[in-house]
This record gives sequence, structure tokens and C-alpha cells, in this order.
Amino acid sequence: MLDGKLLIGGKWKTCDRKFESLNPATGEVLGKACLAGNDEITETVKAAKLAQKSWKRTDVSERAKIIIRIGDELLKRSQELKNLITMEMGRPLSESNTEVRKTSEMVQYFANEGKTFLEGDAIPINPHNFSFTRFEPVGVVGIIKPWNYPLLLPFWAIAPALIAGNTVVFKPSDLTPFVGIEIGKICQDIGIPDGVINVVTGDGLTGKSLVSSDIDMISFTGSSETGKNIMKNSADKLHRISLELGGSDAFIVFKDADIEGAINGAVWGRFMNCGQVCISPKRIFVEDDIADNFIEGFVKKTRELVIGNGLDPCTDIGPMVSMVQREKLKLQVEDAVRKGAMIECGGKEHLTLKAGFYYEPAVLTGVTPDMSVMNEEVFGPVAAISVFKNMDEAIALANRTIYGLGASVWTKNLDTAMSMSSQLECGMVWVNDICTLHPQCPWGGIKHSGMGKDLAKYGIREFVSIKHVNINLGSDKTRAWWFPYGKYIKGR
Ligand code: NAD
Repeated sequence: MLDGKLLIGGKWKTCDRKFESLNPATGEVLGKACLAGNDEITETVKAAKLAQKSWKRTDVSERAKIIIRIGDELLKRSQELKNLITMEMGRPLSESNTEVRKTSEMVQYFANEGKTFLEGDAIPINPHNFSFTRFEPVGVVGIIKPWNYPLLLPFWAIAPALIAGNTVVFKPSDLTPFVGIEIGKICQDIGIPDGVINVVTGDGLTGKSLVSSDIDMISFTGSSETGKNIMKNSADKLHRISLELGGSDAFIVFKDADIEGAINGAVWGRFMNCGQVCISPKRIFVEDDIADNFIEGFVKKTRELVIGNGLDPCTDIGPMVSMVQREKLKLQVEDAVRKGAMIECGGKEHLTLKAGFYYEPAVLTGVTPDMSVMNEEVFGPVAAISVFKNMDEAIALANRTIYGLGASVWTKNLDTAMSMSSQLECGMVWVNDICTLHPQCPWGGIKHSGMGKDLAKYGIREFVSIKHVNINLGSDKTRAWWFPYGKYIKGR
């Protein structure tokens, strides 16, 4: 059984209160981690503030040289990391492997490009007067992350925050504390100075306590509901916040699309990570001429998916992360059925895999806008498919949501693609592709899906304050607009 401690100021410390982390494939206890409270948070933020004084004075290249070692270390430890991810949150090993690889790529990207992204702009004003901008670290950044990408999401904030000269207090999800602890160990082992990265495990109250602490910024990824709470709780402190929240992405298939490609993309996009992905296509809209073929192909492929323990290399769909998430999903499906939706396949607990939190991937047709599957985020293996007649209707249906994270459009017509990409109300649009992630491309949503950007140069600039410096080298003793104002009035 794993025993989790808190990483505070470079030391691993235990605490009185603990909570359990379960393996969702078996329901067994994987270990017990510390439940940090106000006292631990205060101590940790203090340690991070102290460490920031010297960390921010190091050159950005020096910081990047340290951070790049994380990328190598992740690959060295990939075997143990992918096993831990799969055991703690249930996803198939091949997906955990991709997560480790992508995390390493993304860390290396920030380490290589950070210096360029942190160079300010020169702004000439006139021959004697010029300005420039300087990107300065915000201070201590509280990083609060969810369980669905427990390695990638923390590092895509930790890496840019550290390179920019901030120190970090990281709070992993209460469902994946041990992957979070591993992040602390990796950073320590590659030689990050004491206090520069701190890890506090705990639940929502631990997160709330971090938000109310003497922190300078909160970088949050999680549900829209928690994002709104964080925004409210940040108001008094007025610290900076960056919010990456939930989504209900549309997947729109026009009749000229490569139908087979669209079906493969939709099934993978909707069901990978057991449907627990922010940018998963949660609402699928198909043009009426091809709807029957699309649905038939989608249902056939869904039935072929192999459900099982993620540690089995043949598994396509692991368990959901927790009983609570599965119960929430069941209620959403029940609501849809009550209001007239048809379940084409799946939609129930697995008959034989009873110990874990399994749910058979479901395909719903005949869905209508009043159903919760069309209005709320559906965070599990349920695909809701409906039909549209023309582009205007597709846009209206896709935009009919409080969320605005991403969208995926399938067509061979570039004009259609361009028109859709400008009219969809969201932060990211994929054309003939789904759920791709490149560190060079900005990431983030609008509406209730959040504010601020991750990745690319925008991602690192979330973690800096822009300072404007103006220098005047002229010899003028005064300016036309300085006192006395009456100097230009005749007779004075
Ligand atoms: P969650 O909001 O329940 O929890 C996220 C984190 O916030 C956890 O660490 C939790 O302990 C903490 N927390 C809970 N209450 C808090 C509070 N009041 N103050 C501070 N911290 C608090 O989300 P989850 O279930 O862990 O993750 C799933 C959600 O994350 C989905 O909505 C998904 O769409 C979203 N998500 C978004 C993105 C994105 O890039 N936009 C990426 C991944 C996941």
C-alpha cells in the first residue's frame, strides 16, 4: 500500500489526516495520501515565497536547463509512470503511455522555446524616447488540476510557470494523489531547488484553502462549477486566475465527408479515456443524407470495443474513474431515455466486471435539446447523435450550449470548413481530425469553458506580468503638456 506525504520546501512531510486512493478497475485501495489543511497550505506557500526570491533571479536559460531534464526523466520512468496512471485512474496502458510521451514532448518544448517567448518587445517612440516590455514572474502559482490527465495537465502549467521564474504549489486531484506525488519526486530527483516545486495532496477543501492563501496566481483545470467557485473565492485577493474548464464539444459531419474516417474519429474521440476528456465530442451532429450510414457504422464500431482492466494491453475502454462519476452519468442517460432517446447499444454497468466502475459505452439517438446530455457536460462513455439539415442548422445546434471549448468539423470542402471555423463559438476547431494536441498550438475555451490559454507562447505568458519601461534620453527640461498650463495663453 502506497503512503503519500506532502512535499514542502524540499522536504517530504507526513500529516495527521489521510485519504484513500482507489484503483477504479478493482475498487481496491492503492494507498493513503495526506489531506492537507490550512496549516499545511500556509507553511507551503511560505516556503514557495522564500524559494521564489532566488529562483526568479536565475537566468531563464539556467531554469530551462533544469526543466529540460524533467522531459528526459519522464521518458526514463515511463514504464512505472504509465502503470501508476492506469492503476490510479483506470485508462488503458497505451493511452497512459501516450500521456507520458506527450508530457515529455511538451516540457521539452517549453524548455527550448521559453527564452524566446519571454523576450520583451522594443517599442520606439521618437529619436530620444523608447519603450520596452519586460515579462516578469507573477510570484507563487497555485496549480490545481483534475484526474483525467494526471501527469500532462500539471506539467503543462508547472513547466512554463517555473521557466518564467515562478515557484509552484501543486495540488493534484483527490482521485490521483500518487501521480501528483510522483511529479514532486521527479522534480526533486532532477535537481529543482528546494521550495521551487511543492506538492500538497488533498480534496476540494485543500484546493479552496490554497485559493484563499497568500498565493499570487491560480492556474486551474477542472469543472466549470469549481472554476466559478475559484473565481468567487479569488475576488477578495484579486490574484490572477487562469481557468481551463469543462466542455460539450460538437462533432459535425457533412455529407461530403469521408464517412469511414469520421466514424473512426468520432468513436475514438468520444470513447478514449472512457469518455472522460474535456475536448471529447459530446454532441455528434450528422447531415441527414448520411445519418443512417453514420449511425450504423458508429454503433458497429462501438460494439467492437474491448472493455476491461487498463493493465491488459488489449483493453480499449477501462473503468470510469469513480463510482460518483458513473452514478452521475447514469442519471444523464436515464433523463435522455425518459425524454424519448433510444439506446442503440451499451448504457449499463458491465455484467461480469463488477468490482470496478465499468460502464458499457452507450450510443444514444433521437436526442433532443431539452435532454441533459445536450445541456450538461457528459463525462463518460456516452455518445449522443442527432441529425441536421444544412449548415445554418448545424451551427445553431453546435452553439446551443453554455460551453465553448472545442469543435470538430468533417467535410472535404475547404470553404465549408473555413466558414464553420469562424462561426463556431469555441476556442479550438479541428477539421477532419479530433482531440489532437501539439505544444506549439494554443489551448483553451471561451464561455463557460474558461479563460486564458495553455500551451504555445500564450501558455507561458499566462505566468508573467508585463512590465512597461519607458526611457527618455532627450535633454528637454520640460514638456509642452507640463505646468504651467497658462504658458500658451497670450499675454501671460
Ligand atoms: P473538479 O472541478 O471536480 O476538480 C478539479 C480540481 O479542483 C481537483 O484537484 C479538486 O480537488 C479541486 N477542487 C475542488 N473544489 C475546489 C474548490 N472549491 N477550490 C479549489 N479547488 C477545488 O474536476 P474533475 O472532476 O477533477 O475534472 C473533470 C473536469 O475537468 C471536467 O469538467 C473536464 O472537462 C475538465 N477538464 C478541462 C480541461 C481543459 O483543458 N479545459 C482539461 C481536462 C479536464
